[in-house]
Amino acid sequence: MSQYWTDIVHQLNPYVPGEQPQGMQYIKLNTNENPYPPSPAVSKAVESFRVETLRSYPDPESTDLANALASYHGLEANQVFIGNGSDEVLAHSFQTFFKRSKPLLFPDISYSFYPVYCGLYQINFKTIALDDNFCVTLEEYAQPNGGIIIPNPNAPTGIALSLDSIETLLENTHSVVIIDEAYVSFGTESAVRLINQYPNLLVVQTLSKSRSLAGLRVGYAMGHADLIKGLKRVKNSFNSYPIDSIASAIAIASIGDEAYYQQCSEQVMASRGWLTKALSDLGFHVLPSSSNFLFVQHQSVLALTLYSELRERGILVRHFKAKRIDNHLRISIGTDEECQALVDALKTLVG
Ligand code: PMP
Repeated sequence: MSQYWTDIVHQLNPYVPGEQPQGMQYIKLNTNENPYPPSPAVSKAVESFRVETLRSYPDPESTDLANALASYHGLEANQVFIGNGSDEVLAHSFQTFFKRSKPLLFPDISYSFYPVYCGLYQINFKTIALDDNFCVTLEEYAQPNGGIIIPNPNAPTGIALSLDSIETLLENTHSVVIIDEAYVSFGTESAVRLINQYPNLLVVQTLSKSRSLAGLRVGYAMGHADLIKGLKRVKNSFNSYPIDSIASAIAIASIGDEAYYQQCSEQVMASRGWLTKALSDLGFHVLPSSSNFLFVQHQSVLALTLYSELRERGILVRHFKAKRIDNHLRISIGTDEECQALVDALKTLVG
């Protein structure tokens, strides 16, 4: 705390990301990174990047990347907004769309950055409880609201909503509905195909997970051109150049390699099936995941104990100290070798 800070800074409750250890080598299953490297097309793009172009500012509109993303998703370029990671896209979206007069609605167990943005932008919010099986139930989202945001699949549960449910949500509100699809590539149907039908739908995606580019920081939103225009107004009142020229070239290369993306996503889903079974056999309750992580609870050993013991053995998983989920662990899907090492370590801890 400092006398020099404004009141709002004193009140902030910043997001704490999963640990990124520097130095010691861990098996890192704590931040939902992809265990596979980016596409070989990315290496080529880096090698052929013309360093002398860094002299100039990048295109503030990221036109080439916007065109590539639009054509990939079957949209117009004016339906795409790009930001420095989907976290930045989400932050701008909160500021652009969520009305202050009524509460923003999101699940009680969800991405823990949402309440942080509410603090930053002074947005009231109301959480809607997941049911006892950690599923989103829709009825309560029909109440008056200043906006709705739901990750699909949800994080950290990994459970997905059907597209029909999302349509029901959209039909019952005139506010902006954001579907945060950070993990959509691992078996969930995207809401992108509803965009031309619902002018209040914004779909947010990222290259961090499925494209193995968490270090690049490229995320994007898709929606009606009016929504995108609003986002650009906010972006251009904050930072004209969120995407640097190297990031843009790499992102375009990655989007162009569909086969590699499909192959990595399928491998992650196959490993997820294997790990789900192996953990269930060890006495874990594993939620049905449509994501690149599992959310688990052991029948007898406390999550915090397992978290600490795994850490001692060089394996990082994520433990949240939040209500309802403080006896759960979120475990990212690693390579098959990493999943095996996790199961071997857990055998000694819960056996
Ligand atoms: N949404 C959800 C649900 C997430 O879990 C994350 C990753 N922490 C993000 C958005 C942000 O991802 P990024 O900023 O890397 O695009």
